[in-house]
Formats: sequence, structure tokens, C-alpha cells
Amino acid sequence: MATIAFIGLGHMGGPMAINLVKAGHKVHAFDLVDELVQQVVAEGAHPAADAVDAVTDAEFVISMLPAGKHVEALYVTGDRPLFDVVKKSALIIDSSTIDAATAQRVTAIAAERGLNFIDAPVSGGVGGAIAGMLAFMVGADDAQFAQAKPILECMGRNILHAGGHGAGQIAKACNNLLLGVLMTGTCEALNLGVKNGLAPAVLSEIMKKSSGNNWALQLYNPYPGVMEHVPASKEYQGGFMVDLMFKDLGLAMELSQQSASPVPMGSAARALFSLHKAKGNGTLDFSSVMRLYQDQ
Ligand code: NAD
Repeated sequence: MATIAFIGLGHMGGPMAINLVKAGHKVHAFDLVDELVQQVVAEGAHPAADAVDAVTDAEFVISMLPAGKHVEALYVTGDRPLFDVVKKSALIIDSSTIDAATAQRVTAIAAERGLNFIDAPVSGGVGGAIAGMLAFMVGADDAQFAQAKPILECMGRNILHAGGHGAGQIAKACNNLLLGVLMTGTCEALNLGVKNGLAPAVLSEIMKKSSGNNWALQLYNPYPGVMEHVPASKEYQGGFMVDLMFKDLGLAMELSQQSASPVPMGSAARALFSLHKAKGNGTLDFSSVMRLYQDQ
């Protein structure tokens, strides 16, 4: 049993912290929103008065925050930065999806101070977080990865070592760029078929058994009514928000800019999600980009 500080108990962090409690760990939980702290305390976590209180005595620190600026402020630049108070022997795991440049900068500051900081963003959404089925993409050295793995296994099914520091964030950006391209491409093909007289379920089945097969067709069909229990069949409620896909495609664009890697398909997908978001659809599931293609 380990003592773990968990900071950021939102849609993802809350269920992740609860899974650590269920696995028998002592979890000191903190979020700026007290109601979220109380929700995980009801499941057996210990409430922390603030982030500093949470990390005192922690062997592991896990953060699940919105963006790079929050992570940098928490550990380095804020009023009471955690790098000033965390135990030298602790392993700090940031599971937020943030830009690789911030992840690498914060890691370098940690290393200068003799601290262990790794990036371990996730894929799998809120459903995966609740079910403990997340995929973790870890940027760390071998020893840090080995230390983190048993803890991450309490929250995920696939714990993947992407490479050195920052590699987890790079892998996450690449994956979500591909996901954005696959989803918009799938919507495009389905709409083309339907507009030309095909039934969406029949076309989906044909493409699934042909070379157009992909994750969206298999598990997350964007056309309403084709698949049960997916957001498309629930007015695009729940799932992975357009706002988050837009954010992740932005991180991929930053990476492409820094490395001068061409991403024309990702840019097109980002433009489509941007337009869809501008029309007021930011909080819908990302498969709702289907509507952008359909006649109103
Ligand atoms: P969320 O907004 O629901 O949760 C973030 C939480 O962090 C909030 O509760 C907020 O109060 C808290 N917070 C912010 N600053 C804090 C601070 N200084 N101290 C303590 N708490 C603080 O977001 P989420 O959906 O849980 O996503 C978290 C991260 O996971 C994001 O980086 C997101 O991109 C990534 N992610 C989300 C999903 C998803 O489907 N929601 C999937 C994969 C990855």
C-alpha cells in the first residue's frame, strides 16, 4: 500500500483517485472545488486542506489538471510550489494532457532539484477512468517507469512506455491527431454514402469489413442509431467533448510547428472541429462533428 497525493479530481481525476482507493492505497485528495474532494472522500480517500497538505509524506504525487499552465503553476511558479515541499524520494506523475514543451521544462527543473517528475497522459475518456481501463502513455526513464507501473495499473489496462521525458505527451498528441482525422473522415464517408442512398448501418458494416475499417467504425460510430450506447445515439451527450478534441489538436499543431512536421490532415480536422465548436457544440461529444456534414 502506498501513500499517494492526488491533485485535480475532475471528470477524469475523481474516478482515477477512487480506483487507487479501491486498490488499497492511502489517497490524500485535493481539488480547488471542495465538492469534488468530498465525492472521493465518500469513497475512502483522505481530504487535504490544500495541495501542499496533500503531498506531505506522499510516496507518489499524481496530478490531473486542465492544461500546461496549471501544471507549471502547481509545481514550479505558483504561490507555494510543490517542488519546494515534496519528498525527494517521491515519484511525481503528471497525467494531464499538456504541451510537450511544458512537460519537458518542468521535468528539467525537477531534475535540477533532484526530483522525479514524469509525464503519463491517458486515453480512454471518462468511461475508461471509471472502469479502470485507461491507456497510459508514459515519458520516463526505465527506473521511473518500473516504479510508476504498479500504481498506474490500478487505473489503467495498458501502461505503455513511450520513451524519455515528454514522450508521453508527444504520443498523446499524435494519437489524438489521428483520432481527429479518423473521426472526421468516417463522418465524411458516411454522409457521402447516405446522401447517395445507402443505409448508414449497411455502409458502416461494409467499411468495417473492408480497408476503411477503423476505431470510430468499430466502437464509436458517429451516425445516430447505428450503434447502441455510443454518444451518437444519445444526442451526442457524454463521451469526449469537442472542446477537448480542439485542445488536443492545438497541442499537435504546436508540436508540428516546433518540429516543422507537416500535418495537413490534422490541420483540416482541427479546422472542422474549430468550426463545429464555434457553432456552439463545444460540450457535445466529438463524434457530433457528423452534424457539420449533414444537411440541416
Ligand atoms: P476537469 O476540468 O473535469 O478537471 C480538472 C480539475 O482540476 C478541476 O476539477 C479543477 O478544479 C482542478 N484544478 C485545476 N487547477 C487546480 C489546482 N491548482 N489544484 C487543484 N485542483 C485544480 O478536466 P478532466 O476532463 O478531468 O481532464 C483532466 C485532464 O485530462 C485534461 O488535461 C484533459 O485534456 C485530459 N483528458 C481528459 C479526457 C476526458 O475525456 N475528459 C480524456 C483524456 C484526457
